[in-house]
Amino acid sequence: MKNVVIFGATGSIGKSTIEYIKNNSDRFKIVGLTAKSKIKELQKLSETFKVPYIVVEKKEDAKDLKTSLSYQAQILWGDDGLKELASLEQIDIAVIGISGIKALIPTYYALKTGKRVAIANKECIISVGSFLKEVAKKSGADLLPVDSEHSAFFQLLQKEKKEYIEKLILTASGGPFYKTPLREFPKITPEEAISHPTWKMGKKISVDSATLMNKGFEVLEAMILFDFPLEKIEVVIHPQSLVHGIIKLLDGCYLMHVSPPDMKIPIAYALNYPERAEMQIKNIDLIQMKKLIFKKPSLKKFPCLKLAYKAGKLGGAYPLVLEAADEVVVSAFLDRKISFDKIPYFLEKTLNEFKIPSINFKNIYETLGLHQRVCEFTENLIKKS
Ligand code: MG
Repeated sequence: MKNVVIFGATGSIGKSTIEYIKNNSDRFKIVGLTAKSKIKELQKLSETFKVPYIVVEKKEDAKDLKTSLSYQAQILWGDDGLKELASLEQIDIAVIGISGIKALIPTYYALKTGKRVAIANKECIISVGSFLKEVAKKSGADLLPVDSEHSAFFQLLQKEKKEYIEKLILTASGGPFYKTPLREFPKITPEEAISHPTWKMGKKISVDSATLMNKGFEVLEAMILFDFPLEKIEVVIHPQSLVHGIIKLLDGCYLMHVSPPDMKIPIAYALNYPERAEMQIKNIDLIQMKKLIFKKPSLKKFPCLKLAYKAGKLGGAYPLVLEAADEVVVSAFLDRKISFDKIPYFLEKTLNEFKIPSINFKNIYETLGLHQRVCEFTENLIKKS
């Protein structure tokens, strides 16, 4: 039996993980759940599984939960609560479903204390992924990607020597606007931007998918996770979302990873690795599929993708700067403060103008501080415009 903690239990990764564990309770047990604001939902989940450890963001919520919960549980709050839960000895696997850089706290402490970390969070990998890998190596922890594309690469790379690989090709669904003409971009509303054609996800990542910033982040994620040169990572549009990753080998072979577009698959892979387990899932009908479609992404329509390569080439803290700026810019778009077509404009401006101080990336609190400063810088840029 493996003890699992789910950071970000009420988000889409959290919910999929819980659903998977519910159907596989002979092998996995939920021992901890965390949520930021959906406290009623968190309570309901905790009651269902009689979860012994719960972490919320605010002290008041922790207090309320303590009085309303029908059984005895340890209820913690804030960053210290996340740290304590991630460091608990009895945990085998930490699933990181929290979005944003805040996930760095549980990710770091879970890795430091030797847990398996199944990570769906991009921000931490983009910002300090190399450091996190070092931490994992030192403690003997596993860092396993849950992002569908990186899970696909992780699986494909298991069987091939690195020197045989010429290219990693990331697939992108293209988001809701890959057919929309560029001249209509200024009129795109937040409602249109968050209705993703294949995946049901949080608002921020849905907007990132619509701008292709998400794919840009995934390029950086692949570069860092697999130690792979940026110029050998490519992106193709694949609207069917059936092929999740492709590697091109030097002998002309392409290996593709194909699976139904269901996040429970990469989650189950990360939980069960190196084993595999049967899934109750609708199979792909190969005959129905008829053909696989691949297209070149338009950098003119989706300059965010170019910005990711730019940040990756600059290296150092630049990927973090881009990622932090994006949090602010996307939330300004969701609040209707800026139009959709201005998203890349503010990202590029931050990338060009933010002066990176020298910081120690091995101190996660310094990283969080830098992140905060970039956010403030971008907020000011938007305010001034
Ligand atoms: Mg993805």
